[in-house]
Amino acid sequence: MANPDKIYQYGGDPTINLGNATLDPLRLPVFEESGLEASVLRLDKIHPEISGNKWFKLKYYLEAGRLQKKKRLISFGGPYSNHIIALACAAHAHGFSSTGFIRGETPAVLPASLFTAMKYGMDFQFLPRETYLQKEDSGFLSSLQSKYPEALIIPEGGCGEPGFRGAGEILSMAGLSAYSHICCAVGTGTTLTGLLRACKPQQKVVGISVLKGTHGIEPLRTSWINDPADTNKLQLFHDYHFGGYAKKTTALLDFMNGIYEQSGIPTDFVYTGKLFYAITDLTRKNYFPAGSRILIVHSGGLLGNLSLPEGQLQF
Ligand SMILES: *Cc1c(COP(=O)(O)O)cnc(C)c1O
Repeated sequence: MANPDKIYQYGGDPTINLGNATLDPLRLPVFEESGLEASVLRLDKIHPEISGNKWFKLKYYLEAGRLQKKKRLISFGGPYSNHIIALACAAHAHGFSSTGFIRGETPAVLPASLFTAMKYGMDFQFLPRETYLQKEDSGFLSSLQSKYPEALIIPEGGCGEPGFRGAGEILSMAGLSAYSHICCAVGTGTTLTGLLRACKPQQKVVGISVLKGTHGIEPLRTSWINDPADTNKLQLFHDYHFGGYAKKTTALLDFMNGIYEQSGIPTDFVYTGKLFYAITDLTRKNYFPAGSRILIVHSGGLLGNLSLPEGQLQF
């Protein structure tokens, strides 16, 4: 389904196979009862570690690093960050060294995610929470840049213009313009912003925040919305976080097992499980007009399930 000309703009990326992405129909009774059609864009299948939306968000940072002849990529994330794993793996594949600035104290045992990143040669600096909060301050960033002059510093989650641009290219994959609603899970909002900028005028973009306490268009910022008309295409939901970021309930895990049984599609408990849950719940509440064609962007993240105790998921 991929459109190779667009996809391999940046050299022939040896690590990513966008041709593995599929558009899978999601046939659930709830959609049939409401007269809707739903499909899942399986970005989880493009790479086991640079999963889902992450490569899209990193693509133009990798290109910038190459054009600026940088030797190292630096970024920020929590200890379970999928962005950090993806960055480590992509940096390695493209010949960069990498350093992850990780929120919190040095752990006694590296979590599986950081262990994977370390395998790709990433080194870590653990930042106490107060220091981590400065990750966007210009003073902090310029002193970091003088300490690592050979490095390209990438914001947490790839959140910035190159990230928005890369994420928008998700919609350049073939066959997506016929969907009326494009739905995604929202962390930093980088992916959502890219989709919003790249979608067709008649399409709506539905974001499900996985963070507790977001309101209005948060975590998006008004400065990210270039075209005021985009505001009308955007709808964010804030009530599907299941207690907060990376929190879970038995109901969520049961739901994820049910989706897997019915469709064979695995989801993760931090992002896509909540996304799928929200879309079925909104359908039940008649949010989507009859005849809607819903695209659910499976943004990957399945490695996150490794932190669950064995046996909670059937996949
Ligand atoms: C990182 C991640 C997201 C969040 O993407 P943002 O662009 O930060 O909003 C969504 N889903 C999965 C699976 C992720 O790993």
